[in-house]
Amino acid sequence: MTTRSTSTANKDPKKHTKSQRTVITGGTVVSQGKESVADVAIADGVIVEVGSGLQGDIALDAKGCYVSSGFVDLHTHLREPGREEAETIETGSRAAALGGYTAVVAMPNTDPAQDSVAVVEFVRRTGQRAGLCDVFPSGCITIGRLGEQLAPFAQLAKSGVHLFTDDGNGVQDPLLMRRALEYARDLNIVLAQHCEVSRLTEGAVMHEGACCSHMGVPGWPALAEELMVYRDIELVRLTGAPMHFLHLTTAGSVELVRQAKRDGLPVTAEVTPHHLSLIDENLLGFDPLFKVNPPLRTKDDIAALVEGVRDGTIDAVATDHAPHADHTKQMPLEQAPPGMLGLQTALAVTNTVIGLSPTQVVELFSVNPARIAGIADQHGRPIAVGEPAHIAVWDLSSTSEVSRNDMVSKSRNTPYHGMTVKGRIRHTVFGGEIVVHEGKAQK
Ligand SMILES: [Zn+2]
Repeated sequence: MTTRSTSTANKDPKKHTKSQRTVITGGTVVSQGKESVADVAIADGVIVEVGSGLQGDIALDAKGCYVSSGFVDLHTHLREPGREEAETIETGSRAAALGGYTAVVAMPNTDPAQDSVAVVEFVRRTGQRAGLCDVFPSGCITIGRLGEQLAPFAQLAKSGVHLFTDDGNGVQDPLLMRRALEYARDLNIVLAQHCEVSRLTEGAVMHEGACCSHMGVPGWPALAEELMVYRDIELVRLTGAPMHFLHLTTAGSVELVRQAKRDGLPVTAEVTPHHLSLIDENLLGFDPLFKVNPPLRTKDDIAALVEGVRDGTIDAVATDHAPHADHTKQMPLEQAPPGMLGLQTALAVTNTVIGLSPTQVVELFSVNPARIAGIADQHGRPIAVGEPAHIAVWDLSSTSEVSRNDMVSKSRNTPYHGMTVKGRIRHTVFGGEIVVHEGKAQK
């Protein structure tokens, strides 16, 4: 008796091996701006067939769902090395997989910072060992993110780093930023700016406006972001080097980037789910869960961000996933560190508050961020034969309630606990391996 029957053999996705043939059945494939009902067969880490009635060793049910390239997060804080009590590369990767991500860009504000080849290699290798998604370390723009001396761009670029940022800090010195852009242009890497003129935000805990005056706490003015966006657009114009703007929050920033794109400048921009869904008034109860940098703004800013997403001024949704252990986060507002979880809730929250078409999801969460991160040869690819099997299966219509207890991060600082959201990740396939099945992590 032969043991290998085509469609009924090992149906348990936990027990599958890479060489087995997995078929994602009955979903709607979203790829290159088109939607079509098709099965997708995978073997040895690549897509081997797209069509109808496909058979395999393992079937992944995708009925009622969309099937797309896996998501790419441009902005993930994994906290390792240095703050493993808040998150590790493994726990953060698991949260990413549950959010449909097959690749994340790890922000460099670790301890030590990602300003040397040794540290970025550690982050990359630890990500490979976890094996839940690709972890692409970013590099610092300046040594220690101190804004004084440029990091060794050439060495870091040679070791595979494409995106450089001092995230958490903006690069304050315009001359240093100009030099950084000149090196970046020659090395074919991209700088990503955290736009904050720090002299204007000293001691700030939230958006400067009516709400912060009412609460009597120091404010973070929109101008502190917009001044740096303006300066850096002009430095891009001067140097010709590309620039990515991290987590934009204000109507003024969106308008500056819109105009820069009209001028043909090589700038890109991201927005976070929380800046699309929450406002300064969420802080009226002084709950540190809503403290984040840059801060939550106003309804008018959200309207401008949504318009920026709609007209392509904003290229990507990025999470700024920022885990903090309870004992550090649950502090008085002035002392609490800024940041909130984002990976597991990004698609559902964004879809709930602004409504997304399937093609918009693929562009904002996968194709555009992969291009900006310089990994478009591996991620954000079409669903087609021969392409790497980094795949997310999701829907935009099922509803569920977010619970902090469902967070697999080492931290629980989600601001969405109790919120009803629309949309979910059903399966995630990373390099041909089923890492999330029916919304549950498989390793
Ligand atoms: Zn930042």
